[in-house]
Amino acid sequence: MSNSRDFVNRRDFVAGSALAATAALLPAAAAANLNAAAAQTAQSSGGASSWYDRPMRWAQLAFVEDDPGNYDQQFWLDYFRRIHADAACLSAGGVVAFYPTELPLQQRSAWLGDRDSFGDLAAGCRALGMNVVARTDSHACWQKLYDAHPDWIRVDASGKQVRHPSDPRYWETCALGPYNFEFMTSVHEEIMRKYKPDGIFTNRWAGSGMCYCEHCRQNFHAATGLDLPRTLNPQDPARKQYIVWRQQRLFDLWRLWNEKIRAINPDASYIANAGGGALSDLDMKTIGELALTLFADRQSRSGVMPPWGNGKNGKEYRSTLGNKAIAGICSVGIDDAHRWKDSVQNGDEIRMWMTDGIAQGLRPWFIKFNAKPIDRRWFPAVEEVFVWHHANESYMRNTRPLARVGMVYSQQSAWFYAGEDARAKIDEPALGVYQALVEARIPFEMVNDRCLDAEHLAPLRTLILPNIAALSVAQCASLRAFVEQGGGLVATFETSLYDEWGVRRSDFGLASLFGATYAGKLEENMLNSYLSLEKDAAAGASHPLLSGFQDAGRIINAVNQVDARSTAEDSFTPLRVVPSYPDLPMESVFTRPDASQGGAHSPGVYLCQVGHGRVVYFPGDIDRTFWQVLSTDHAKLLRNAVEWATNEPAPLSVEGPGVLDIAIWEQKSSMTVHLVNLTNPMMMKAPLREIVPISRQKVSFRIPSGRRVGRVHLLVAGRDVPYRAEGGTITLEVPSIQLNEVVAVDFLS
Ligand SMILES: [Zn+2]
Repeated sequence: MSNSRDFVNRRDFVAGSALAATAALLPAAAAANLNAAAAQTAQSSGGASSWYDRPMRWAQLAFVEDDPGNYDQQFWLDYFRRIHADAACLSAGGVVAFYPTELPLQQRSAWLGDRDSFGDLAAGCRALGMNVVARTDSHACWQKLYDAHPDWIRVDASGKQVRHPSDPRYWETCALGPYNFEFMTSVHEEIMRKYKPDGIFTNRWAGSGMCYCEHCRQNFHAATGLDLPRTLNPQDPARKQYIVWRQQRLFDLWRLWNEKIRAINPDASYIANAGGGALSDLDMKTIGELALTLFADRQSRSGVMPPWGNGKNGKEYRSTLGNKAIAGICSVGIDDAHRWKDSVQNGDEIRMWMTDGIAQGLRPWFIKFNAKPIDRRWFPAVEEVFVWHHANESYMRNTRPLARVGMVYSQQSAWFYAGEDARAKIDEPALGVYQALVEARIPFEMVNDRCLDAEHLAPLRTLILPNIAALSVAQCASLRAFVEQGGGLVATFETSLYDEWGVRRSDFGLASLFGATYAGKLEENMLNSYLSLEKDAAAGASHPLLSGFQDAGRIINAVNQVDARSTAEDSFTPLRVVPSYPDLPMESVFTRPDASQGGAHSPGVYLCQVGHGRVVYFPGDIDRTFWQVLSTDHAKLLRNAVEWATNEPAPLSVEGPGVLDIAIWEQKSSMTVHLVNLTNPMMMKAPLREIVPISRQKVSFRIPSGRRVGRVHLLVAGRDVPYRAEGGTITLEVPSIQLNEVVAVDFLS
């Protein structure tokens, strides 16, 4: 296997099939299938049809079984019209049919009678000029389907069929076998034939966890020669192959449904409920190729989650969908762990979550389960956001982001390197960098690690790799080319220390960029360790990395670090590690010389110039430590590192008090700067109590070359704003911001 590990040559990588890379794990026949499938994908997405970019605001009404005959259809149609929703996602079938299905195994709603609730509401929406996507759900089925096909039910590791944990009248279904491939295909075909919707969107189509049914056992064995894994360890050969095989089955299902849908309505397509960041389980690059539009299903905040979580989701989807329309699904309820599906958030929380998504390019989408509203307090909040969005619609049709910094995320690092620890080892470092960039007011994009080709990276100046541990030789070569041509790079901890299958290398794949070599061990969970700040004796001044630390001698270190050695003999480092020393008894709390380095402390950061680019490598997990501790010193250090590596004026700067999520965009004949005010005692944990306004912000931004400025105005305040134009830069003041402000510049044609 060691020979095949780095088999991905540059051409394969740039050609961009993630599955081409994963195909190495599979027998030759399966690999050929995957490659054929990838070619077919490219073809089918080439014929993109017309409606996908049209809708700007989505309404989703998810029926519950007793809605037919008991809800007021006209009330909803009036609301959709009032809020200028121009597309709807409506429940049609799957678990329960809300139309007169003729499929004997599809259960009609017991309240349906001779009604057609889906068909009637869809017709009402179409009369309003809305696009209509039919929603299905495939994760649960009734007893009659179990009786007819007991082999279609999910089987757990002990060999038992699984009843639905929430409503035990239902059974959980197998996602990878005939239930989806045959039964749900017939459901989708029936809905398409009867109603010709613009697409079908399936909730929970990818299963409810590992399935050990006879189909999964046989199909996996036929593909790999192995039995289904019984461990989550990604280095177990069966587990590793299962991660790949499951994706192949689901993408095959996606293609099948897409093909059947388009055979009936060529302007429609299958739209999977899929996607996300590093922790999502389907390859985002393949999703980006398959989907003509996509819906980001992160409905609300739970646990510790700043409001920028919605915008982050938008950036992750955009990293592989590019400029295709992406809607951000927003629940009006408090979901959290106990899933109060009939609850209602306070209005400010809804407005904040939606507005942050809009700032980062998502088209707003509200979802309400149960068409008989019990608590109506959410209606005005959604209406306010939607009406404002509609009034300013041309400024929301972004053509490209103007950010110059990109943060890389890596699903292969999560799957094959981190496994069960992905939240700690992959998500937390990324969240730390995200929070630091928001605090630093640096606009940035997310970058998928399988999109490191020159075309994807062309708009960007700097890449940040927050513990992107698993990288192939080809990916490392792409990063090196990016830096040599003038790109900046900031990397942390175990970045590139593993190959794309999560197998440890003898040295960093990016050793030549870091100017550091792996010294053979990790130091984990360090107590009481520091970074001492060093003046450059030769230059007689502090390095820009230490900007803002004038009076500090030391700051706290990261909690985990890679033991590394410099490959440059006499290189200067502005940070040196002060190794752990006792924190008790108090008499013992003093610094010892570091024996391992003959008294000289090892570097806490490596700074390199490679070709025309600059590289900053932190051997510590300073990003993850920042997320855990939120020390302002680490935020400052990360900001300084990004600014030094970027080494050019920022496209946007915003000065003033508070915490803002910012974005800078270009449209066909305008540009916008979004400022979302996150300053709030409930910034890290929902729900907000109230929006807390912030005072004056000084905003300056660069005008894209070749554009001439006409009008400059504020889209929330609704008025022109005085500005100064100088050398291609506009400077102005936004006097105060409640929830958000958008500075818009109309260009002269
Ligand atoms: Zn199964």
